[in-house]
Parts: sequence; C-alpha cells; structure tokens
Amino acid sequence: MSNTQFFDEFDFENRIMDANAIPEDTPEGDNPLRPKNLDEYIGQDKVKDNLRVYIEAAKLRHETLDHVLLYGPPGLGKTTLAAIIANELGVNIRITSGPAIEKPGDLAALLTNLNEGDVLFIDEIHRLSRAVEEVLYPSMEDFAIDIITGKGQMAASYHLPLPHFTLVGATTRAGQLTAPLRDRFGVLLRLELYTPEELAQIVMRSAGIIGIKIDYEGAIEIASRSRGTPRIANRMLKRVRDFAQVMSDGVITLDTARTALDRLEIDELGLDQNDRRMLEAIIRFYNGGPVGLETLAAAIGEEAVTIEDVYEPYLMQIGFLSRTPRGRCITAEACRHLGYAFPKGAVGAQPTLFDN
Ligand code: ADP
Repeated sequence: MSNTQFFDEFDFENRIMDANAIPEDTPEGDNPLRPKNLDEYIGQDKVKDNLRVYIEAAKLRHETLDHVLLYGPPGLGKTTLAAIIANELGVNIRITSGPAIEKPGDLAALLTNLNEGDVLFIDEIHRLSRAVEEVLYPSMEDFAIDIITGKGQMAASYHLPLPHFTLVGATTRAGQLTAPLRDRFGVLLRLELYTPEELAQIVMRSAGIIGIKIDYEGAIEIASRSRGTPRIANRMLKRVRDFAQVMSDGVITLDTARTALDRLEIDELGLDQNDRRMLEAIIRFYNGGPVGLETLAAAIGEEAVTIEDVYEPYLMQIGFLSRTPRGRCITAEACRHLGYAFPKGAVGAQPTLFDN
C-alpha cells in the first residue's frame, strides 16, 4: 500500500472515540445525562471532596467561592462540574468560551450582566486573547473593570464596579495558561481519566436515564473500551443500544456489547482505526520514532492539537506512546498489540504519565 493510500483511509469526520463534543451529541444545555449535583457526579473523589469543603466554607462565610480552574483532557466532566458548582452554591451560571470572547467589550458585557454570586464559566480559557485577559485580571481580583471610551482628547476612563462572581475556567492544557492568569485562581483542580469501574457506573446510570436495560458485564465492556472518558462511554452506549434493539432482545449484555463494539471496530483497549493507523504510521514510516508532533500531524493530515488532546493522553496512559524531547515514540507494548515487531533501533523510551 502506498503512503498516500495508507493515510487516505483515516476517517476523522466520524470519530466515536473523539473525546471532544461532536454535533451528534445531545446539545450540552439540555443533556439529561449530565449529573446535577456532587452526589450524582461519579468518580474524581479527590476533586469532589475538596470542592465540597470549599463550597461549604464559602456558604458559611456568605462569600463567593474563590475562582476555580479545572484542567484535564476533554470529555472528563469539566463543564458538568462547573454547572454543579453553581447548583451547589445555589447561583446561576453563564457559559462561554475563550474563543467566543473576541474583544474586551464582549467580556465587559458578560461581566456587567452577572448577578451577585453568579458563576461565569469560560471553557478553553487558554484561548483568551491578551487584550481580553488584561480586562479579566482586575475583574477577578477587585471585581471592577476600567472602561475607556472615545479616542484622543475625547477619551474618558470609567471605573465600573462589578458584582462578586466566581470564575470557573476550564482548559485541556494548563501549561498554556499565562502565569498571571493561573495565579489568579484560588482553586486548581485536575481531572483524571476514569477507571473502568467508575465508567461502568456512569454507563449504568446513563442507561437508566435513556431507558435501555443493561447488565454489569455489558456496562464494564463498554467502560473498558471508552478510554477513561465519560463522553465517549455515553456515546458508545447509544451506539450499542442500537445494536441491542435491532439485533437482539433490547438488553445490553456482554455479548451484545462485544458484537456491537467489534462491528464499530473499537478494540478491547478502546483503540479505533485512527489510533491504530497513527501508531502504525509511526512504526512503518518513522521506524517507531522519534517523530516530531508537527511532522506526524502533517503526515496523517490531522491537527497537532487534536493529536495532543484527543489521541495522546490515552495512548500514553496505556503505555503505547511516549513523548521524548525529540518526538513521539512507539513502545514495545503498542507493537505487540498491533502485531508488529518492535522496530530495530527504535528509541522506545519508557512512557511517562502526562509528561507535558
Ligand atoms: P468536558 O467539559 O470536560 O469536555 P463535559 O462536562 O461536557 O466534559 O462531560 C461530557 C459528558 O460526560 C457529559 O455530558 C456528562 O453526561 C458526562 N459526564 C462527565 N463527567 C461525569 C461524571 N463524573 N459522572 C457522570 N457523567 C459524567
């Protein structure tokens, strides 16, 4: 197979395993699968325990909660947690994202429309522009903004007090946040990939909500192929439900889950065709690595950030890929799984968890 043919077979458009939200997902605003309070939120025990204390303390003191930064790979429940924080505090939440706030004026409009105590959630906060960040700093610190109107001699500056609010920022890449912004968050919480047992609980809960019967073996099968990510587990559950209803008696068992996931070409470790092909590309065309991120991205026609955010966290967690200063390397485990011999002379450094 030629190099071009090999890469042509990538299917980036229709990726069940994409941890980012895709259009077929239920619109996040009215997503019935979203837990509403901390008790319903499964897993992330350390994060939940700490949040409970901070929320309780803020309520006792009748103060707003300190600004919170949530970070971790996509699909792990950052937006869900932001809504839960607002709910537990008994306040409203305004949801926006870094790229949506284009100008300082957009941010000023958002801030001046908040009510006392509200939560402002900014997703992808690492993508705020410098100019917007400059307005955000004083508003986080002093709950006030300075607005300049007019130009030249007509320019006038107004000091505008704001309601006290809690900023909840979410990012997949804490490392890209500027230091002054990061320092203004009082609470930093890192979300971890979920264990198969936690994901199985999420799948059982979601199955109850969408009204499909499932047994524990079926749930754990879906869970263990979901790459530690609730968004993927929920999406997979919906696909498996189709198979269970059309090809069997409507109950998701180990058998129906296995058949459906095999049909969807998601292997027992949760790798899909695209993962396998990316790993194969490293083995076949770069002798197992190291290959630079940009080179790999250009070669497979995928964006570098997608490789970093969507493919890599899980592939590194299961020890299939390692990052070295010189680039990405395949590991012996990955070769074994894919049925390749470990390339002679490949670096094969030991993987490190989230070594970004
Ligand atoms: P992120 O903002 O980190 O990309 P979301 O908060 O949008 O992730 O979560 C994705 C989906 O996964 C949500 O719609 C929710 O249904 C589900 N989910 C996330 N975390 C949990 C959890 N801890 N328990 C149950 N469901 C969860």
